[in-house]
Amino acid sequence: MTDLKSAKESRICDTLARLKQEHLLRQEICLESPADSHVILEGKEYLQFASNNYLGLAGNPRLVEAAGKALARYGVGSCGSRLTTGTQTPHRELERALANFKGTEAAVLFNTGYAANSGIIPALCGKGDVIFSDELNHASIIDGCRLSGAITVVYRHNDMKDLEAKVREFHGGNRMVVSDAVFSMDGDVLRLPEMLDIAEKYGLFSMIDEAHSTGVLGKTGHGILEHFGISKFPDLLMGTLSKALGAEGGYVCCSNIMSDFLRNKCRSYIFSTALPAATAAAAREALAIIESEPKRIEKLQDNIAFFLQELGRHGIRTSTASAIFPIIIGDSQKAVDIGKKLKHEGFLISAIRHPSVPQNAARLRITLMATHARPEISQLANALAKNVRK
Ligand SMILES: *Cc1c(COP(=O)(O)O)cnc(C)c1O
Repeated sequence: MTDLKSAKESRICDTLARLKQEHLLRQEICLESPADSHVILEGKEYLQFASNNYLGLAGNPRLVEAAGKALARYGVGSCGSRLTTGTQTPHRELERALANFKGTEAAVLFNTGYAANSGIIPALCGKGDVIFSDELNHASIIDGCRLSGAITVVYRHNDMKDLEAKVREFHGGNRMVVSDAVFSMDGDVLRLPEMLDIAEKYGLFSMIDEAHSTGVLGKTGHGILEHFGISKFPDLLMGTLSKALGAEGGYVCCSNIMSDFLRNKCRSYIFSTALPAATAAAAREALAIIESEPKRIEKLQDNIAFFLQELGRHGIRTSTASAIFPIIIGDSQKAVDIGKKLKHEGFLISAIRHPSVPQNAARLRITLMATHARPEISQLANALAKNVRK
């Protein structure tokens, strides 16, 4: 018994030791404040450039009030899956608001973006089907592909020629193309118009993940379709409520038929308790704020342009089309060390390592928020110039 236990434990310990040796062991930090541009960590205040709370809505009083009202009215837990007893009025209202926001017939709410991707993809594709997936797609898409049992054909990052060549080569029952709209570790934008043309030409289902584009891209923050000014829709416009919308949950905007299908076929939708009504109410308030306060999106976009200019002034290389700025360092340990130095100077930023990014592509992943002030952005650019060797 004890031998067995130690053998099991030693395998776990070996894995941990290997991660540590490769500078890939990760530990969480614990914030003592809302996820805003200024956060408290270990009793000390930091300027944060690491949150996905792009519009600064997570601690917004209107969201807190909406959540509080729903909390008082509906209680804490929904205590049922959506198809049994978990659906409450705020879930319905949020789905309607999401469909209106994106301009689709319907929307389906999931508990997280992860649950959406890992549920939707296997609902649409299975054995004998083919999924075409960008090589830099988010892990939740990769896991959805794996769960599906379909053949997954990975195409070169944002390379529509490679996608089309592979679509011509691989045949099957249902075929689907899936991509991040903004790539989460690189900040670049999907070539959506070309992707949709290919999907139409070859009869593929098309799915995009707007986790980092909703509330960020487009003049009024409606996302990638507004960014390109196109009116053609992918079949599935998936996203998360946990980033620019400051709440929690995943969603997909789609046709009524697709919505009926997904509610009946997505295991992550069927076999999981619905989100708390309070969370749904907060997310709906966030959509209302985006619609009524376009200045927030303007401020975020202004901050992005300003930071690019500041980095350029210091000769620091990066490129982005979103609120995500990757500063590629390469070596994992080096990236972590720079992160620590910046923390020492009062900046909280993320050093991202394998497996979130490819081996030897460790990076600082800096994210901007609408609530950052210009002088704070300049301070960060100065600190980076000092700590990142060009
Ligand atoms: C964060 C993220 C998800 C997961 O969304 P959660 O709501 O955090 O589970 C999915 N896709 C992309 C591209 C993401 O960045």
